[in-house]
Amino acid sequence: MYRKKLFGYRIIKCIILKEKCVKMAEVFSEWLEKLKSKVDISEVVSSYVHLEEKGSRKWACCPFHHEKTPSFCVHSQTQTYYCFGCHVGGDVITFVQEIEHTDFMGAVKILADKYHVEIPDFSKRDGNSALKKHKDKLYEMMRETANYFHLNLMGDAGKPAREYLLKRGISAQTARIFGLGYSIGKQQLVAYLISKGYTKEEMQEAGLTDMSQNGSCIDTMAGRLIVPIINNLKQVIAFGGRVLDDSKPKYKNTRETILFNKSKEIFGQHSVKRLKLEEPVNELIMVEGYMDVISLFQSGVRNAIASMGTALTVEQSKLIKRYVNKVIICYDGDSAGQKATMRGLDILYAEGLDVRVVSLPDNLDPDEYVRKYGKDSYLKLLVEAKPLFEHKLNVIASKYDMSSPQEKGKYAVEAMNTIKVLEDPAMIEAYIGYVSKQTGLSIETLKQQFDQSETPVIQIAKPENNVSMTAFDRAVRYVLYGLFGGVENAKCDCDLSQYITDANQKSLYDLYRAKKDSGLNTLEELMKEEENNIEVRPVLDEGSKIGDEIANTYFDDCVKKIIKEGDKKRKRALTKAIDSEQDEEARYIMISQLAQTKKQ
Ligand SMILES: [Zn+2]
Repeated sequence: MYRKKLFGYRIIKCIILKEKCVKMAEVFSEWLEKLKSKVDISEVVSSYVHLEEKGSRKWACCPFHHEKTPSFCVHSQTQTYYCFGCHVGGDVITFVQEIEHTDFMGAVKILADKYHVEIPDFSKRDGNSALKKHKDKLYEMMRETANYFHLNLMGDAGKPAREYLLKRGISAQTARIFGLGYSIGKQQLVAYLISKGYTKEEMQEAGLTDMSQNGSCIDTMAGRLIVPIINNLKQVIAFGGRVLDDSKPKYKNTRETILFNKSKEIFGQHSVKRLKLEEPVNELIMVEGYMDVISLFQSGVRNAIASMGTALTVEQSKLIKRYVNKVIICYDGDSAGQKATMRGLDILYAEGLDVRVVSLPDNLDPDEYVRKYGKDSYLKLLVEAKPLFEHKLNVIASKYDMSSPQEKGKYAVEAMNTIKVLEDPAMIEAYIGYVSKQTGLSIETLKQQFDQSETPVIQIAKPENNVSMTAFDRAVRYVLYGLFGGVENAKCDCDLSQYITDANQKSLYDLYRAKKDSGLNTLEELMKEEENNIEVRPVLDEGSKIGDEIANTYFDDCVKKIIKEGDKKRKRALTKAIDSEQDEEARYIMISQLAQTKKQ
């Protein structure tokens, strides 16, 4: 009885939620159109790269791949961009997403901010915009604090901290790039911020101050060298502080606040972002602390990042995946470092990243190593970084005495459990062979052990290029074939870009959209292009499978299939994302998108 009542209540709640969502979706899409009408894509793009006008378009060297002659163009009329080199393209939102390494909502927020358009309130609570204003004020206070600390460092009072940096080989230029600073004492920052109109409550809330026993408000970082922690929107969200002598604790971070959730942040993001504008960045080096990042930067290794002293989280892994597909872990050589390595690895691997591990000799940390042996020697170590599972097996093996048959057996059991998470049969076989070599046990015995091993808790994402051809992919290919002139009079009025998820297929589709009126190259012509899209050949192959007599009917069927299947795929992905999203505002946006999909 109770259950039935509860069930009915749920249905009513769902209906209410659904109606609310549909309404919100309408408000949101109206608002988004308003935002887009204010934004000029050339203006946005030119704040990142230099655009030159030629004919109806503006050209630049592509910010997404490395090149010397411009093949990246912006079309003002359609408000789109396209790169003829790496075939990326889209509208202003996708551009900001790509260049700022953020998601859809992140890009929308950046644009809304830039064009002073207020984001409508999608939260249950009415106080949301008030909360945003409040947070903005705290961000501003953090920025002023960072400036204040930096001026301290560069001024007369900063001498002890400057001497410390000198000792660590950090130049004034590097200090400027990372915005390093110095806190002179317990009271100065508080007095400064009060003179700027901030309250002690605000300082306390942003984690800048501690309450002393007699109730006075003191600078948390007093006497420390300051490292500002900056998020991917270039906002100062927290500070790290290091003592100048050997007192403890050596490092201290701002406590968690409404601005700073350390499990979601990565140190060094904004310098990596800047680097990506200058040169291609294919891999990131994950180190333990921010001083390692700064020290590596100083020696010319500019692609290092650090977590904030905790084990890596899923959110951080997702963040890394937005920048690169490969990450090299380079933690301290001590055992604590190794344990942290092991934990972090699984999470990164589960995100589909190619994970490698480097072990530094003599228990050195990256900072010490690079100062002792130099950049080139460090880079050489990185090249030799071991693939994740090889490293894992080696670490496990080091716990056992391989000369004892019993220990050897125990190792084999643990090793087989470890590789059980792998899904690729070839990889499994390779690692069984590896363990066989290490132990001298036969491959058959190890295989038996492997089959008996427990199923792992952690789920490993399959590498993307291994995904088998689905009916959906085939439909997309045929539609592309048709649109590029393969099917006579093939026409598709609706925009399919929201359904196509494969990057190569999408770039072909975008190319079609960008050039359909101004003259489209045939697929055969595209094949001859220097850096052609690897999807062109399969598209041609798919086209050749269908006879002319049914081509038009088949084409229309494929379009229908893409829309139907694509909607299902999007709904599934959205439902999954809504489930795991923590941020309430982002959740509501997704709920409204889901509602919109359902309405369509
Ligand atoms: Zn490009």
